[in-house]
Amino acid sequence: MRPTRFSAADDGSATGEEELRIPSRYSRQVLFEGIGREGQARILRSRVALVGCGALGTVQASLLARAGVGTLRIIDRDFVEESNLQRQILFDEQDARDVVPKAVAAEKRLSTVNSLVRVEGLVEDLNAANVGRLLDGFDLIVDASDNFDVRFLINDYSVKNDVPWIYGACVGSYGLTFPVLPAETACLRCVFENEPEAGVSPSCETIGVIAPIVGTIASFQAAEALKILAGRLDRVNRRIASFDLWENRFRTIDLPPVDPECACCGRRCFEYLDGTRGAEAAALCGRNSVQVRRRDGARIDLQELCRRLEPLGPLVKNRHLVRATVGNCQLTVFADGRAIVTGTTDTGIAKSLYARYVGA
Ligand SMILES: [Zn+2]
Repeated sequence: MRPTRFSAADDGSATGEEELRIPSRYSRQVLFEGIGREGQARILRSRVALVGCGALGTVQASLLARAGVGTLRIIDRDFVEESNLQRQILFDEQDARDVVPKAVAAEKRLSTVNSLVRVEGLVEDLNAANVGRLLDGFDLIVDASDNFDVRFLINDYSVKNDVPWIYGACVGSYGLTFPVLPAETACLRCVFENEPEAGVSPSCETIGVIAPIVGTIASFQAAEALKILAGRLDRVNRRIASFDLWENRFRTIDLPPVDPECACCGRRCFEYLDGTRGAEAAALCGRNSVQVRRRDGARIDLQELCRRLEPLGPLVKNRHLVRATVGNCQLTVFADGRAIVTGTTDTGIAKSLYARYVGA
């Protein structure tokens, strides 16, 4: 059972609960009339799950921990690298040298920022098998992931269990965010019916990203989170917000209407929760390798993939496969969408590399 549910009608003041003492460190937030004492009391009791602790996640985690959420669970499968430091604001050079898992480094840093918040850094790969264990009992899920498999899984979980979540993504100088309020707004699959085709979407690894767009999208998500947690659903932006900070384009557009034929919120087929969609990974016995396979069987345009991976350095390519070297790993992608990641036995790392360099 979730400890706290929020609604605009419930003002939270007549529950007979002992009034919560609000630490003075939150005085500026209490003074802000949109939050006030009641809103802050709700924030202090809230439980937020943050999926991903890279660029967006470090900014959100910092903002939400400083705002005083009760429990902040940070789920991330990756470790800190030097190239993260340009935008992943919770980490430092020592974390990169020590190859510290991001969830661990974030927990350690945030515990010095706000010791009143219960921060749980979990080094896990969110997937259909563990999603209940990792997300049950939370009031809000914030997306800071880097791939659509995880986002569609969060979306399935959210709609099925009636827990709001906030989508966010950015690449280059461009970013996009919108909230999903189950049974009220369109869900992710109403907006994007299917995952983008593998091998064609740009990613931060192939076209780069500047830190200000990360801060913009993460801040936008954190603001919506504060509204939801403070019980001010009436203030939640129910539109898609997009920003291109280099091209100076800032706009919001209407979310599509809830689609009665939507597989997720309309027909309630939770294919990502059931594990019938998305990528799967299995370690290859004795080979220091992991095979990643897409369950949808989508094929990959290897020529297009080559064009995207060429900036990484020399590729091995023929009509059957493309091989790139990424850090200490080799990524070999086959036309049938399968990939073998050599240099690791960690399925989470292999899926992460696949998501970043191949897609979805
Ligand atoms: Zn839907």
